[in-house]
Amino acid sequence: MDLKSQSPHRRWNPLRQSWVLVSPHRTQRPWQGEVGRKDAPSEVSYDPECYLCPGNQRAGGAVNPAYSGVFSFVNDYAALLPDSPAPRMETGSPLLVAKSARGLCEVLCYHPNHSLTLARMTQQEIRAVVDAWTQEYEELRALDWIEYVQIFENRGAMMGASNPHPHGQIWSTNFVPDEPAAETRSQREHLALTGCCMLCEYLAAEQASGQRIIFENEHFTALVPWWAVWPFEALLLSRRHAEALPEFTGSERDGLADALKRVTTRFDNLFETSFPYTMGFHQAPAGNGGHPEWHFHAHFYPPLLRSATVRKFMVGFEMLGMPQRDITPEDAAQRLRNSSEKHFWDRSG
Ligand SMILES: [Zn+2]
Ligand SMILES: [Zn+2]
Ligand SMILES: [Zn+2]
Repeated sequence: MDLKSQSPHRRWNPLRQSWVLVSPHRTQRPWQGEVGRKDAPSEVSYDPECYLCPGNQRAGGAVNPAYSGVFSFVNDYAALLPDSPAPRMETGSPLLVAKSARGLCEVLCYHPNHSLTLARMTQQEIRAVVDAWTQEYEELRALDWIEYVQIFENRGAMMGASNPHPHGQIWSTNFVPDEPAAETRSQREHLALTGCCMLCEYLAAEQASGQRIIFENEHFTALVPWWAVWPFEALLLSRRHAEALPEFTGSERDGLADALKRVTTRFDNLFETSFPYTMGFHQAPAGNGGHPEWHFHAHFYPPLLRSATVRKFMVGFEMLGMPQRDITPEDAAQRLRNSSEKHFWDRSG
């Protein structure tokens, strides 16, 4: 297929088993390169009103310790509770089904400094976060009732983040949520059918093509996936086959920290703004039995399209039909390759 082609086409997402409509002819109007507004760095390292800053009281009444590194606590307004009883509902119809939903929701503060982001933390500081994620994952999956551990971050008000303090969340559940459940089925089917890990094979194909790769370090590859839905969606793949965080060596954890800093810095530089996104890790479910089909990865879903203020909406045909994009994944990867790894706030002049 000629990827320079401007014809509308559909692309297959083998991981999710779904299609995305690509309409590159719609971007033939020249790219304006507008950046909207240029974000100014916040100089506030401590905000007395922030419920995540060290030493502050949270809305629930608890007081944060004067932490100096990473700090985690159980969410005061958790969406899931460890002891919620199984629902007993006589619905009168097999179509009206409910099942138990137990879980734990934790908040993980990445750093005591209120104004930092992953892009502006040092690689060493991000490594401390990687270590904390790994430890939390190990502890949570050791609980016999936990089936899945979802580590994620909502960054920026546009993504609904309620607080700019650098932090992420860890929701663990007594069931495998829909997205990782779909990816488990796809990867399991692919392994059974071909004897190969789907994402090892996919990574090799992307490396052979090179068109959608943003950068690689020794241990991780950042790329715009073939099937990307969001304009600047990115996928971070471990170069070695690994099911989950605990398998990574110290050097691989450093590689993950490096890759996270470089992806987020390139995002910020694209429109010279603190780039909003939802980011999260997908890894093997926590329940019994090995998962040789599972290949660790991170998804970045950023909403911005053309500038710091113009975002993509998933409405209309996308809600009723299927996702659609204008800029091709190849063009998005090119723009992210051209984006600097030196943060625009730190540049002189
Ligand atoms: Zn804060
Ligand atoms: Zn693999
Ligand atoms: Zn995934």
